[in-house]
Amino acid sequence: MSHFSAPPPADVQVSFRTVTHRIDPHMLDVDALKTLRRLRKFGHEAYLVGGCVRDILMGHQPTDFDIVTSAKPAEIRSAFRNSRIIGRRFRLAHLHFANGKIIEVATFRRSPCETDDLSGRHAAENLFGTAAEDAIRRDFTINALMYDAEKNCIFDWSSGMSDVSARCLRTIGHPERRIPEDPARILRAVKFAVRLDLRFDPPLAEAMQRHADKLLLCSPARLIEELFKILRSGHAVECLYMLQEIGALRHLLPALDDFISAQSHSDNAWRALARADEQNVAGDTLSDAVLLAALLYPACRDVLHTARDVSRELESVLRPLVHPLPFTRHHMASVRQMFLALRRLSAGPAAKRARKMLERDFAADAIDLLALVATEKEELRALSAWRALQKKYPQSHPKERPTPTKAALRQNPRRRRKPMTAPVA
Ligand code: ATP
Ligand code: MG
Repeated sequence: MSHFSAPPPADVQVSFRTVTHRIDPHMLDVDALKTLRRLRKFGHEAYLVGGCVRDILMGHQPTDFDIVTSAKPAEIRSAFRNSRIIGRRFRLAHLHFANGKIIEVATFRRSPCETDDLSGRHAAENLFGTAAEDAIRRDFTINALMYDAEKNCIFDWSSGMSDVSARCLRTIGHPERRIPEDPARILRAVKFAVRLDLRFDPPLAEAMQRHADKLLLCSPARLIEELFKILRSGHAVECLYMLQEIGALRHLLPALDDFISAQSHSDNAWRALARADEQNVAGDTLSDAVLLAALLYPACRDVLHTARDVSRELESVLRPLVHPLPFTRHHMASVRQMFLALRRLSAGPAAKRARKMLERDFAADAIDLLALVATEKEELRALSAWRALQKKYPQSHPKERPTPTKAALRQNPRRRRKPMTAPVA
């Protein structure tokens, strides 16, 4: 059977190799292995793909295990009672396991070709294809490897294995096409290069710089999602500097870019984010709102410490700081609440009010933020006292995503979200 139903794009060099390679099953997820077996039992092709294969080959522990299969969404649904079909753009299946574990199972997809009828909504994203077609529509060669856990071999259609060995990040197809086609790949490239210690293929490095001004053409939700992935990567500080160096931060968060430009590396402005990185590497989960607060803290620090009317002045700093990214009202309200709580928390728990404070829905996040920003002796003492109190009254502060209070939301009244405009060249 042919690997391709239509010729691959001219700039994609296809070089199919099957590499015998046994991954120690202990490094793999048991539920992912069970899922692969079951799909095969039903007569489908099924492989591990993407980040998990790449991370294992590069000596890292994968964060999740994604599966690709020849089974169509409806076939996956009927093979697994624990499955749910999700996604409006991509329809794929989520398999739900104990302890909230979710394994993503996607049907092989292909990029559209000239003869396809793309009139239906999201038709272009839901064209099913072969394993090879699925591999070459992925972003980087190292992300397109598929592992057959039954035959212990890796399918490689785009020199992914040699790029793993050379620790080189290279797009599938020419970066001059693949980066403008989806500029969010710039953020992904930075994350992978820093996290996995990779060098950029030189044409990719050039394309990232040349097309950084197209970042805002992506959907804001995707940019924010990729930014949060960077904040969670354990290497946020390094990524931030790299984003600035390649000229991407200037488009993504221009005010933050200006702030960094005005700092010297020795200023230690990114201490909070560096601590968050350490915690992420150690596997402690900080909420997205805390990570966002750690990113924005250095530029808000002066206002928090010196302003007369902190609440009002904070607003006038925060809004332009995140422009033009439309973070959710929930995230922004949480950041604001945490910042405003910092001063009270830094003073330590006062007898009667302390319990009440702990019961506030943002308290656990605010204490996490205090742990990131505390430097003075009193702050550190206050932090230990809050941590002790949290231990003593574990019920008072369920560690959940804080729901912003009405008062906090009111400070950021609902605005019509303006579409992001592409920067003028
Ligand atoms: P991470 O470890 O950060 O999750 P990942 O490689 O698993 O990295 P995901 O965002 O989980 O990244 O995506 C899973 C896979 O989907 C990728 O490995 C890649 O093959 C493919 N992919 C994701 N985003 C894109 C994109 N923008 N363009 C093309 N392929 C993509
Ligand atoms: Mg992933």
